[in-house]
Parts: sequence; C-alpha cells; structure tokens
Amino acid sequence: MFDQFEKFDMKANPKNPVLVPLTTIIGALEVWKHKAIINKINMKGIKPPYILLANHNAFLDIQMLRYITFPHKMSYIVAIDGFLGRKKFLESIGCICKRKFTTDPYLIQHIDYVLNKQKNILAMFPEARYSLCGTTAIIPSSVARLVKHFNVPLVILQMRGHHINSPFWNLRMRKVKGIEADLKCVATKEEIESMSVEEINEIIQNEFIYDEYAWQKKKGIRIPFEWRAEGLHKVLYKCPHCGKEYEMSTSGSILKCNACGKEWFYTELGELEGKDGVTEFSHIPDWYEWERDEVRKEVENGTYYFESEVHTDILPKDKFIPIGKGKLVHNLNGFTLTGEFEGEPYELKIASKSIYGVHIEYEYLGKYGDCVDLNTLDNTYYVYPERKDFSVTKISLAVEEIYKHISKNR
Ligand SMILES: [Zn+2]
Repeated sequence: MFDQFEKFDMKANPKNPVLVPLTTIIGALEVWKHKAIINKINMKGIKPPYILLANHNAFLDIQMLRYITFPHKMSYIVAIDGFLGRKKFLESIGCICKRKFTTDPYLIQHIDYVLNKQKNILAMFPEARYSLCGTTAIIPSSVARLVKHFNVPLVILQMRGHHINSPFWNLRMRKVKGIEADLKCVATKEEIESMSVEEINEIIQNEFIYDEYAWQKKKGIRIPFEWRAEGLHKVLYKCPHCGKEYEMSTSGSILKCNACGKEWFYTELGELEGKDGVTEFSHIPDWYEWERDEVRKEVENGTYYFESEVHTDILPKDKFIPIGKGKLVHNLNGFTLTGEFEGEPYELKIASKSIYGVHIEYEYLGKYGDCVDLNTLDNTYYVYPERKDFSVTKISLAVEEIYKHISKNR
C-alpha cells in the first residue's frame, strides 16, 4: 500500500556513531541544569558490548543516556518520527530506526551488528513510548529473549523526575532540580549465560517498577507554576464522580468535569484534592488505573467500540504525506482504517492479537490534535479522529486490555 512513496531503508547497517564528545556535552549541559544525582551500581569493569535498557519519560532521557555512557560509543533504537527532517544526522550518531510495536526482521541484525561488529553499547527503551502518567508501561517478554540471545551483560538505567519535569500530557518544562539516574549492571555475561529467559524477564520487570508521582512526593519536589494542571485531562479523561467520559478539562491548577461541575485542585506536590472535600483519587496513577479497570469491563462484556471519521498522515520515510479523510474503527478484533487516496480505496487492518500496546500522541506537533500511531513494517499512519468526544488514552488502554483478554482466553 502506498508503494508510490519512497520508504525508509530499514536494511542498512547502523553507522558507527560520530560526534560522541559533542553529543555528550549537549547531554551534560542538561544533566547539569537539572542537578542530576547519578549512581553507578555494579558497573565496575563493565565495558561494551552490552545491552542497556532505560525507562522512557521525556526527551531528557536521551541526554542522560548520552552523558552517562561516555566515553563509550552507543547506538539506540529510535521510532521513525524521531527521524523527521534529520535522518542523516541521527543515522550518523548511531540511531537505529524502528516502527513502533512491529516485529521488525532487520532489528535483530542491527543489534547483532552493534554488539558484535562495532562492539558498542546497544540501548533501547523497552516500553517503546513515553509513559503517559509516569508509571511503567508494558514490557514484553521478548525483550528478555533478546537479551538471552545476545548473551552480553545487561545494564538497566532508571531515571527519576523526567516525567515530573516534562509530563507527556504537557511537555512544558517545570525546571525540576535533583533528578536521579541509577545505572546498574543487573547481570554479567556469565550470569546471562546461566539464566533462563524467565529469570531475565523477572529481573527486567522488577527493575522497571517506577512511579514518578510517588517519587515527587517522597522527594518533596514542588512545581509552583500556576499552569501546572494544564493538559492533565488528556490522561484523566473520565470523571470518577459522575462517570462521564470526555468531559474533563484543565485550567491553571484546576482539573474539572464539565458534566457534573466537580473540580480538583492539583497541588504543587503533584496530588489531587477534590474541592468539595471528597477526593476520589489523590494519586494520578490510581485514577489512570481506575480508568483501565473501566475499559477492561467494556472489553470483557464485549461493549468496547470506537469509530470516527479521521484525518491521516503517513510517514513512509522521513516526511509526512497527508492522505486525507477516512474512517477508523477499533473493536475487539483490532483497528481498521479505510479511505480513498487519489481515487484508489485503501484498507489497513491491525489485529488485536498482534499488538500489546499502541503509541498515541496528545496535540501532536501542534497540528490536528490527538492521534493514534498505527504501524506496518513499511509505513506509519498518524490517525487523527475528528469527533469531539473521544480519548486516545482510552484507545491505548483498550489495546492493552484487549490484548490481555485475548491472551487469557487463547
Ligand atoms: Zn463528572
């Protein structure tokens, strides 16, 4: 489909990174600005090649990654939209392109090349997207299989405070000081060799448990900006007071349901307080998990369904191409995107059993609003629903819950 457009060459070998001192200095400036506290644990004698897995909350993660791995060379896996308008540069500094939530046959070759030919660090963000509300996203067991396959040391980088500094729901910087990074070798080459995939998976899952809002509270980090709640309704799209969806809004430090009128104050310490004295959820991730439970019920009783007219842009290489209006349906079977481009009908189908998660964007690039990012092996579709009452957060939760539901009943 859309074969008239040039596609990103996923086959080419990764380049050996250049400009390492420069990218490290840029990283160091950011790390210094945020007064980062860095801990290196069990890292004595650990040299490349190794696999580094990092949690993913903001662009700052990349700067920390570059700083913390100096003086070694590192390649890392980047989603294709990272290459927008700067493909050559990113390739030159060792970035490897991937379309999100696809099983890319070339990726294993590229990782092999980085580890075994270039003898560099291979870094990846196994959550495959920024965390929506500062908690761990799903990490599939295939990551552990990959680590076992390459039989190199496993290093995990856990960063704290990056979501609090620039949450996915409103990227505006909060100038947080005292961010933290733990770089930890969790298994040497010899240990990986003797471990089963299940054991490696257990280590990864345990090391990746994080909660940015709990961290903020524990550290007593205050966000004094009056606008601090703005955008939070993108994640908290359902009112726990009246149960209505898509009626939430934010202004200043207030989160509000426009259906029942209830308001919550978003404190400087990142907690919510009901203005009527009743606080359903003071902790943002708890509200989000409640929404997940609500979506799970719809999945289990078979009522989950989403349909909308949409506008779609495709990203076959490193530039967007608008393909106009179409229709998106999401149900228990998966996504179906249909439309017509230059007089020819097209249909994209993605089965629920093939995706355990989906990437979404809020107000993506300030263009058409929120979107769902659907991928095949050779194309990426940015699908913008045009109806007023929807939430891409709900779609994302539904993808995860449908996948779990199918796996459970298989
Ligand atoms: Zn309400």
